[in-house]
Parts: sequence; C-alpha cells; structure tokens
Amino acid sequence: MKPPQGAHSASGGAEQSQFLTVLSRDEALRRWTAALAPKPIGRETVSLDASLGRVLAVSVAAPIDVPPFDRSQMDGYAARSADLAGAAEDAPVRLTLNAETVACGVAPRLPVGPGTATPIATGGPLPRGADAVIMVEHTDPDGPGGILARRPVPPGGNLAYAGSDLARGEVVLRAGTLIGAREIGLLAACGVAQAEVWRRPRVAVLSTGDELAQPGEPLRPAQIYDSNGPIVAAALTENGCDPVRFGAIPDDAAALEAALREAHATCDAVILSGGTSKGAGDLTYRLIDRLGAPGIVAHGVALKPGKPLCLAVCDGKAVVVLPGFPTSAMFTFHDMVAPVLRRLAGQPPRAEASLEARVPVRVPSDLGRTEFVMASLARTDEGYVAFPLGKGSGSVSSFSQADGFFTIDALHDGLDAGALAPVTLLDPGLRPPDLVIVGSHCVGLEPVLDQLAAEGVSARSIAVGSMAGVAALRRGECDIAPIHLMDPATGQYNKSYVPDGAELVKGWGRLQGLAFRAGDRRFESFTLEQALKRVAGDPDLLMVNRNPGSGTRILTDKLLAGRKPEGYWNQPRSHNAVAAAIAQGRADWGVTIRPVADAYGLGFIPILDEQYDFLVARARRDSPAVQAFLLALARPETADALLQRGFTPAERG
Ligand code: AMP
Ligand code: MG
Repeated sequence: MKPPQGAHSASGGAEQSQFLTVLSRDEALRRWTAALAPKPIGRETVSLDASLGRVLAVSVAAPIDVPPFDRSQMDGYAARSADLAGAAEDAPVRLTLNAETVACGVAPRLPVGPGTATPIATGGPLPRGADAVIMVEHTDPDGPGGILARRPVPPGGNLAYAGSDLARGEVVLRAGTLIGAREIGLLAACGVAQAEVWRRPRVAVLSTGDELAQPGEPLRPAQIYDSNGPIVAAALTENGCDPVRFGAIPDDAAALEAALREAHATCDAVILSGGTSKGAGDLTYRLIDRLGAPGIVAHGVALKPGKPLCLAVCDGKAVVVLPGFPTSAMFTFHDMVAPVLRRLAGQPPRAEASLEARVPVRVPSDLGRTEFVMASLARTDEGYVAFPLGKGSGSVSSFSQADGFFTIDALHDGLDAGALAPVTLLDPGLRPPDLVIVGSHCVGLEPVLDQLAAEGVSARSIAVGSMAGVAALRRGECDIAPIHLMDPATGQYNKSYVPDGAELVKGWGRLQGLAFRAGDRRFESFTLEQALKRVAGDPDLLMVNRNPGSGTRILTDKLLAGRKPEGYWNQPRSHNAVAAAIAQGRADWGVTIRPVADAYGLGFIPILDEQYDFLVARARRDSPAVQAFLLALARPETADALLQRGFTPAERG
C-alpha cells in the first residue's frame, strides 16, 4: 500500500480537543503502535483438528523418524542386492523364499540370508539382512519355495530408509507458520496430536447509534441496519481474531459507558464504530480517555475515506473508534487496524498484490488529504481499466464490490482522465470478469446475469448511466453497454446513439409512468392528461424529479413543457429513490418505471414504453462470454422472467 506523505495539522477552530491535530496516516500509525507495542497476546495448546488456520507459537521438531523404520516402497521380495547383481531376462537368479510374509504393520522375524528372499508388501518393514526389494513384476514363481528374479536391483532399491522423509529432531514447522491442511498432515505423520499456537485475540465489536437495527429485525422509520458490526466481526475472524459482539449501543452516556467498560475488561481489544460526529463524539472520546492510560493517541487522520478515525491504547489494550460510514469504517479497518490486530494474533502480514490500471475518468480529490478511491477492474486489450466506485464513504457497496483501490496523494487535487494508477488489490487472488457491462443498470438484467453465473461465466455490471456507457464502449473498456436514450428530436430510443464499431441488440421495454401513493384521490383513476392538468393546477402537490441527463428527466421535462412545479429541484439519481420519496410522503408524484412503482406499492399512470437495449462492441461479439450473454438474452426463460418483473421483452425472430 502506498503510504501517504507528510503530517497535516490544524483542522482549525474545532471545539473537540482531540480534533486539534489531524495526523498523517503514517504518523497516526506510528503513535498507535508505539503506545501499544503489538505482539502476540499469549499461547494455547489446541488439538490437531482445531489447529487449522492457527499460527504456531513454537517451532515443532519431529519427535520420531519418518518413516520410523526401513520400509519397502513396492510389493515384492526383500532380498540382498549382491544376489541380484547378475540377474537378467535370459539369466534369472533363483532365490529361496523364507517362511514368512511381511505385511504392513507386521514386524519381520526371520533374517534374509544369502540366496533367500522374503515376500513383502508396500509399507512393510525390511527384514534384517535385506538391502533391496525386487518388484513382484520382475519375478516369476519357481515352484512352491522359490522365485526367479529377472532384473538386478541396486542396494537401497525400492525402499525408504528410516528418517529419510523427516529425521528425528529436525524442525518440521517453524514458529509463525500458518497451519493449513498440509501442515496438519505433517504434524500427524510425526505423531503430534496437539499444537501450541498463538491465542486468538478476543476483540469486542460495538456499534453505536440510536438509528441502528439488527439484521433480521424489522426496520422502523428512520432506521438503518447495523452493517458495521457484522462486517467488522467477519473481518476480525478473517484476520485471526475472535469477535465478541456487543450489538448496537444507543447514543446514551450511561449505556455506552457500561458497554465500553465491560468490553475493555473482558476482551483483548475493543472496536467501536460510529459516534464520530460532534456531540455524541465528545461523549465517546471522554469515556475512552477514562478507560486507562495513555488513552487516545490519534484522532483525525488526513485520509479519505476515514478522517474521523480514532486510535487509543487503554491499559495496554487497543481501543479503536472507526468512522460510522461503512466504506470509511471498512477501509480504515483494512488499511490501519487489521495489520496491527494481526500482530496481536501472531498472524503473518496479509498477502498484498497490486497491478497498474488506467483510470478512464477524472477523479477530483481534496488537497491535503490522501484519498483512497475504491475501484472496479476490467481487463481490456490494452491492460486493466479501473472504474472508480463513486458512491462515497456512506455507501456499503463501494468497499464490498471494489476489486481494489488507488491513491491520490495529499499534494494533488485529482487524477486526470486516462492516468495510470497502481491499484492495490483487496483480494490478491483477483480473477478478472469474463464479461464487462458498463452503462445503465436495470433489474431486468438480473435473470440474464443469473444464467451466466450458472454457466460459470463471470460478469461484472458497472452502473455509470447510459451516456457514460456509450463512452466506455467507444474507448474499448467494456463488451456491452446497456442504454436507454431518447433522441429528443425524434422521440426514438437508442438508434441514434450507436457509435462506430458497435451494434444495437434489442433488450426490453420498461413502462414509464407517473407514480403516486396508492389511494391518493388527487391521482387515482386519472388519465395522463387529467393527471398533468392536476399537477399544473394544485400547488400543494410536491413532485420528485430525476437527475439531468437521465432518460427519465428528458421524458419528464417533455411532459412538463417548461413548467417547474414544486419539488422540481429534488432530483435523485435512481428510479428507486423516486419511488421511496413518494412512498414515504416526502413527495406526492414522480416519473418512474412500472416494476419499481409496483415494488413500492404505488399507483401508476402509464406514459410510454422506454426501450432498454444493448450496445455490443463488434470486436468482442464473437467472444464466448458475449455469445453466452446473447444466448441467455434470447432464451424463452428470460422473456418469462422479464414479463414476471413487469418488463416487455423484445420480439425475437
Ligand atoms: P456517526 O459517526 O455515528 O455520526 O455515523 C456516521 C454515519 O454512519 C451515519 O449516517 C450513521 O447512520 C452511519 N453509521 C453509523 N454506524 C453504523 C453502522 N453500524 N452500520 C451502518 N451505518 C452506520
Ligand atoms: Mg451515530
């Protein structure tokens, strides 16, 4: 990971004392590790079966030789190599058989004298006197008591000597080794039944906020689900720690203090999230400083996402407050907290990989803060392209769906379109998708993508809107660009937007209409003309619009014919946001597509069928992934699934 440079200070005029100094990432980490001196927190002995994924605390030496005795590697006869020296197909040597057979697990009783041999199984211990094994395939029976050997065998032939695999006293696994299936096999072969491993640190996970509900609970108005708690817990497990869940604590001093004290007393480290805003924040920080010395060592880090990160050490235990915003929380955990916790867990540093990718669009960034930009990767003929996932730090999906991130350092105000950036991979085993779809996303795509997934074709759909999809296709960054663009001159969809080197494949129709709360008398059972008249004449009606440049906005503006009713400037970026605003009473009407209006239980007055089609790059048309996509699109099951979701599948010949 690229370290940001330089310290930055003075967030200027902040009342919170801890915010007085905003530190660089490196300085914050330096102070925190200096105060914590992270090292493994203790050892424990676990059974071999339970040792998977653990880290050895001490080196293990083989207590025995492996194999423990000289052992045959073949089914055949234990013999003396000197007897076999002259044996050949046309000059076989006769050996007299000794009166025992050495099976696996049977200790031989009789020595092998000159001119004799003892039948022996693979894995059988070599009798005294023998120094080689002749394979049964190279012998013939010669009466009841003898064999004819037809090949010579050198001394040591077809046998393994005691300790040749592992010698007694030899270190077979070193301290610090992460135990996997192969390591368990090695320990078992030496007869080791238990392993001394580093104890997994117990780490308390606390979410804070009055607005948080736990997954599985119903969501009350103004609530959101606690995603940080489960994410942090899972990330702790991935990094060799045992999470101890404390759930979501309300923004209440007594409740938070009680939970924090219990967490600090019973766990090896404490991770909170949220409560970094003013007011509630002051409370958290005062409490942490009371838990033990030295308390907070860094609060405010000059990076984005993640500025409000707070790092503390209380009585030798790490205490961290992650920012509440999920992407900030996950990023700072991954970048700054996990490496330190891994040291407490005795885990080796995380494997990291990076690759160079072209960033196709300009990415603005604040001066004075190192910015980490989550990105989705696609492979093109000219190498990798990194699309910034621009949903911001309040998003859960930015971090979860990113392949990696690139850095814009504090001294730059952005990255130019087309710049090359080293991308740090979040999962070093990245497998680039077989099919890259960039443009407008539609839930109608899901049944098609499901079919591809079932066929083992990995597809990545990057939602950037129709126009940006056309641009990405032009630059060769994707295989397919889904679009729904009305030509305002002709009222026709998509045809006039096909660039050179691409062709248009029919997708489906999405019925656009005017949505309102079901039962709203001001719209119920109206025609479109009546509804538009009502909208024009009723100042109490509040609309929700769409963002400029979207197909729906073009349509809405056409309908409104220059009027700008109340609510016109409320312009979210998605069909769902329009429906949610109406359903929750933040607005009374807006234009959205039928499947979305249905999903929110809204009333709906149809306007027209908007065409959602696919631009396909001609150069990629014959690739197996694009072929699989086109086949899936044309299947009758797809048409059924589209109908079921409220779309109108295109006629296909
Ligand atoms: P806070 O720092 O508590 O003001 O939180 C900042 C933002 O992150 C708010 O929008 C919170 O609702 C959100 N947030 C805080 N904690 C969580 C959490 N555990 N899961 C999801 N979002 C959260
Ligand atoms: Mg909060």
